[in-house]
Amino acid sequence: MKKEFIFIGPPGSGKGTQTIMLSKEFNLPHIDTGSLLREEIASGSQAGKLADSYISKGQLAPITLVASIIKNRISKEDCKNGFILDGYPRSSEQAEALDDILKEIDKNENAQLTVFYFEIGQDKLIERLVNRRSCEKCGAIYNLKTMKLKDENTCEKCGGKLIRRDDDTEEVAIKRFETYFKQTAPLVDLYKKRNQLITIDASKDINTIYKDLTGAIKENVHS
Ligand code: AMP
Repeated sequence: MKKEFIFIGPPGSGKGTQTIMLSKEFNLPHIDTGSLLREEIASGSQAGKLADSYISKGQLAPITLVASIIKNRISKEDCKNGFILDGYPRSSEQAEALDDILKEIDKNENAQLTVFYFEIGQDKLIERLVNRRSCEKCGAIYNLKTMKLKDENTCEKCGGKLIRRDDDTEEVAIKRFETYFKQTAPLVDLYKKRNQLITIDASKDINTIYKDLTGAIKENVHS
């Protein structure tokens, strides 16, 4: 059975950390729309310039732009056994667009879509975001407050440079939360009605969340 995983949760809920771990264990591509859009911006393309004008304000990039990035990516050969979507869909319109994309891609496939909702209170999230750093080279994610790094500028896994994302300032983070609650949070009910939603308590520590997540997959996802 083709495994298709979607992750929904507010900014800073730890989706990135967990989906990277899951991708390695299940050998499924980790598709993170935020990173794909940042790559587009770094390439200097017209699409990247357009995306940047939304990302810098904490708003969602245009639906057609993100849908075409996703469709291209999940049509690739390495997604034939499934994929992990981190940060897509983020609105009801994007969920509809994804339904259409999957109808086309999975015409002759036996696929199971499972949606994980990372539930967490808002209080800790801003603090997590402003203390977040990620490695420019390997994508590893760190929290300067909870992880005691020898050098706050260097990745302990590969020696790459640790950077703070431009949109991880308090001002943009608040806008990103507003966008999340207005546009993304309604997806929880939508997927719950379809019986595709599994809720994960994202306030726990990294290893416990991972154990809960893999336990839920064993229980609910066909092999
Ligand atoms: P993230 O890295 O997931 O926190 O995403 C960073 C930013 O990229 C978001 O605040 C949005 O501006 C943009 N973005 C990421 N995923 C999407 C999406 N599915 N649709 C539209 N914009 C997105």
